[in-house]
Amino acid sequence: MNPILPTSTVGSLPKPSWLAQPETLWAPWKLQGDELIEGKQDALRIATKEQRDRGIDIVSDGEQTRQHFVTTFIEHLDGVDFSRRETVRIRNRYDASVPTVVGPVSRSKPVFAEDAACLRQQTDQPIKWALPGPMTMIDTLYDGHYKSREKLAWEFATILNQEARDLQAAGIDIIQFDEPAFNVYFDEMRDWGVATLERAAEGLRAETAVHICYGYGIKANTDWKASLGSEWRQYEESFPLLQQSTIDIVSLESHNSNVPTDLIELLRGKKVMLGAIDVANQTIETPDEVADTLRNALRFVDADKLLPSTNCGMAPFPREVALAKLSALSAGTGIVREELSGTPS
Ligand SMILES: [Zn+2]
Repeated sequence: MNPILPTSTVGSLPKPSWLAQPETLWAPWKLQGDELIEGKQDALRIATKEQRDRGIDIVSDGEQTRQHFVTTFIEHLDGVDFSRRETVRIRNRYDASVPTVVGPVSRSKPVFAEDAACLRQQTDQPIKWALPGPMTMIDTLYDGHYKSREKLAWEFATILNQEARDLQAAGIDIIQFDEPAFNVYFDEMRDWGVATLERAAEGLRAETAVHICYGYGIKANTDWKASLGSEWRQYEESFPLLQQSTIDIVSLESHNSNVPTDLIELLRGKKVMLGAIDVANQTIETPDEVADTLRNALRFVDADKLLPSTNCGMAPFPREVALAKLSALSAGTGIVREELSGTPS
């Protein structure tokens, strides 16, 4: 049984230096073949243990077995040619050379089920697994086949649903879809984005979450954030739709961001995974800062629906920074738990 305010991370954690170059986003692997498979699973075991040692309640794989949160999944699908590259604009923010959709997309076998089963073996605590959302997937590809973002998104939604069912069968309790694209493409989100997300989550027994953020602390993202002004109201577009949706949990940025806290009210009734840890800044939050962020949010979300978390993944951090931030998250959450239970600290 979970405590009140169960803590979790959004997803990625730094990888060990023997597996991939530290402090580098999407770093290539240092091992190959069977050594790589064993190395990834060892890293997953370490990441799981570190989370548990630092008091994290809902444990994830730290994305130790993946190079990239979107493309590692797509690499395992048919219909996408990684040797044919086109340059496209990612979330209207930066140009990237991306693979091409050359035919019907499909999934011939489960992608992450074995890794998820490995995670399940590590702990009896609730476990969470992140997949990219349909709209974020199409935004990292050049579509030379369907010639329709919507059509491709529906195809990916079907594939994601197959994958989510396999993850559920492997023992995953919470399946999270990462949809940073929901902070950018508001018209498409309204027209078919939320519908394709619901399709991806259809019929699952596992709880479902959607993570919407302003991205990792890389320059293209911090420049974009600087252009958004003193109040970030992007969530105002997605939250009312998600409040009406079948998705159980919404994961959002809060600490050190310019998101007005009262926007959380738009999600009333849903569980809220709240970012109480900044991923764009290496300064370790104090437990009191974390507690303040949580108290602020509790004005707009019921305590039994609040899940303290990080703003986004922590892959680009030095390991000790990420781990210290996990400890701060747990300690800050502990303060608020005691306040809620009426026990003096
Ligand atoms: Zn994120």
